Amino acid sequence: MAPKPAIPRPPKTAADTQKILAALSTQHPNADTELRFGNAYELLVATILSAQCTDERVNQVTPALFKRYPNAAALAAATTDELEPQIQSTGFFRAKSRSLAGMASEVVEQHGGDVPRTMEQLVKLPGVGRKTANVVLGHALGVPGLPVDRHVLRVANRIGIASAEDPETVEQQLGKSLPSTDWTRASDTLILHGRRICKPKPLCPDCVVRPDCRYYRNVVAKFGPAGGRIARVPTVPRRPEPGSWVEEGRAAKARSVRVGPGPSSGSPESGPLGKERRAAKPEIPSRGRGPRSGSPESGPLVKERRATKPARHSRGGGAPREVKK
Ligand code: SF4
Repeated sequence: MAPKPAIPRPPKTAADTQKILAALSTQHPNADTELRFGNAYELLVATILSAQCTDERVNQVTPALFKRYPNAAALAAATTDELEPQIQSTGFFRAKSRSLAGMASEVVEQHGGDVPRTMEQLVKLPGVGRKTANVVLGHALGVPGLPVDRHVLRVANRIGIASAEDPETVEQQLGKSLPSTDWTRASDTLILHGRRICKPKPLCPDCVVRPDCRYYRNVVAKFGPAGGRIARVPTVPRRPEPGSWVEEGRAAKARSVRVGPGPSSGSPESGPLGKERRAAKPEIPSRGRGPRSGSPESGPLVKERRATKPARHSRGGGAPREVKK
């Protein structure tokens, strides 16, 4: 078997990382999971439901669910048809109900009804990935766990205490820099910082680690909180010389693509209001080759910013993705 590649070293040292986490914990002294649970089974159920859903919404659904299915054996006896309407408001309810029923059956059949206590066993359960497993280990089983969600991924990369797009690599980088007793607390702190301060559009003036943050120094301080986008000088479209072959070609093309008389009078697009609406319509940015190298929009930090941007998703029966929360 090929040896595992070495974990890339993040820009900040372990000592820097510990100092930064200590500062962040003064800003968020009560960082903890916001999911409500009474034991490992309940936290496992709540964390599966929290994929692509807010903790607040999950906390509205779980009290009735835990009352009706107080343990894995009770949940294993439920059908997905029965579960779906009870968890519908959390989104992806079909996939989640399959995960819940499958997870509960495995816990009963393979572990005698008790939630297993190791990462290896947890990630074998249906609907359970590393992030969910780390949440349960760290918060309900007293085993060191460092959950990496989209907030941890974004904040850690921005500050420079991690440098990877892959959550597992970030988990390893942070885990190496911090004592295992601090892992869960560090994750909770970074999550809260990502929710409240270091949002996709960061509130840097309110941030206690601004002097140590690479993203602040390299991007925000130079180009503003929106990165290179607001620093870009608007370009004036070049007009072809009157009478040139470019202008003639464009005019001919415009004649050939004109397929109708435009909005008919009386249609919603006609008249001054329609004209105004068309004029006010923002331009759709071109999806061409992307920024040129050397421009404020290029380079690894901006790539990080784009990579950590939450993906749009539809709500429904598709499979939930763990890290894109
Ligand atoms: S300084 Fe700004 S970018 Fe850096 S961690 Fe704080 S909020 Fe985030």
